Amino acid sequence: MKPIIRAGRMKPVHSDIRGPLFVEAMKRQKQGIDILKLNTGNPATFGFGLPDSIKNALMEHMQDGVGYCDFKGMPQARQAICDYETSKGIKGITSDDVFIGNGVSEVVSFALTPLLNDGDEVLVPSPSYSLWGNSIYLEGGKPVFYTCDEKANWYPDIKDIRSKITDKTKAIVIINPNNPTGVLYPKELLLEIIQIARESGLLVFADEIYDRLVMDGKQHISLASLTEDVPVITLNGLSKSHCLCGYRCGWMVISGPRELTEDYRQGIIQLTSLRLCANTMAQIVIPAALDDMETPASMVRPGGRIYEQREATVRELEKIDGLSFVKNDAAFYVFPKLDVKKFNITNDKQFAHDLLDATNILLVPGSGFDWKDPDHFRIVMLPQADILSDAIRRMGTFLDGYKQK
Ligand code: PLP
Repeated sequence: MKPIIRAGRMKPVHSDIRGPLFVEAMKRQKQGIDILKLNTGNPATFGFGLPDSIKNALMEHMQDGVGYCDFKGMPQARQAICDYETSKGIKGITSDDVFIGNGVSEVVSFALTPLLNDGDEVLVPSPSYSLWGNSIYLEGGKPVFYTCDEKANWYPDIKDIRSKITDKTKAIVIINPNNPTGVLYPKELLLEIIQIARESGLLVFADEIYDRLVMDGKQHISLASLTEDVPVITLNGLSKSHCLCGYRCGWMVISGPRELTEDYRQGIIQLTSLRLCANTMAQIVIPAALDDMETPASMVRPGGRIYEQREATVRELEKIDGLSFVKNDAAFYVFPKLDVKKFNITNDKQFAHDLLDATNILLVPGSGFDWKDPDHFRIVMLPQADILSDAIRRMGTFLDGYKQK
């Protein structure tokens, strides 16, 4: 028998958050080495406990949802999502426009599969959480990366977006707040993106999974709340805001003129009904979670863990020579820049490997976020503030005198 070979469309797919360096780090951990994992955005593993609202909802509804539910999701959960997204200013939606899946990770494929023919293009931010680029490759499409400009607070470069639109462009992805930069976008920028979509007939995918983790008194604006004539798929979930990554609970909401998305919507219905339904135990907690905005708010206000951990991290990062960064105002990520000349860096994977060797700190290099230059890395600011401060100081000591060979 011949070896079984993976399909060609897997070739460009990359998963660096849990890639070869992660495997290497876990090997060392098994040998008894204490690895500080600044690679994954999984709050529960850093002591963010189960919110009481979720605990109570689970106890109360333990008997519910033991059978398959509606393929779009449980009615009470979809209504709660519809109410939440309506409260964010999205107009004209009903619970019929909501589709629940096993995390945004699954919902992304329900959003892309019915849209893309082979070779169709989707505009994707660079840097970006690689789920989007990878999923587009898996659907036979082509992610075309537009630049987010570090010099402009990591905002998407509108000129660059415009220059990359072709007759194959079907959609544009916006991740706001962004992963890996942790930056929140202002209304004017969202309006510019809507205008591009309007002019070029693009569907907008707005990944807003960090919308409840915004700091410094700022307000998240849902892109879909700013338009009634452009079709938007808004994606969100409970992994980050309620520290429920393991529940696998995400959703998407279709907004905009129904007649423009009717055929596409039928494709989503076909797909979601084929997989019967999403995990119902996670859906049970959706109404309670969306009624509990105190849980995310308590983490991001001064004194809250996410806020204080960011403050501790940036205080130490500021002291490192040869490193610069844009302070994030949302989520729990920062994406610092290395002076590649000073450190002679030509390979960011090698840099991350060298750092792991010297400090037992695991992080993800910029290339893992579809960033083309070897000059960035992402820090996940989820450990306690004192642990983060110590880690960044050790990173500084490592960089002092570091030259890549
Ligand atoms: N979208 C973004 C921007 C993310 O950062 C993540 C996870 O880190 C996801 C989607 C996936 O979320 P989920 O846990 O709902 O699959």
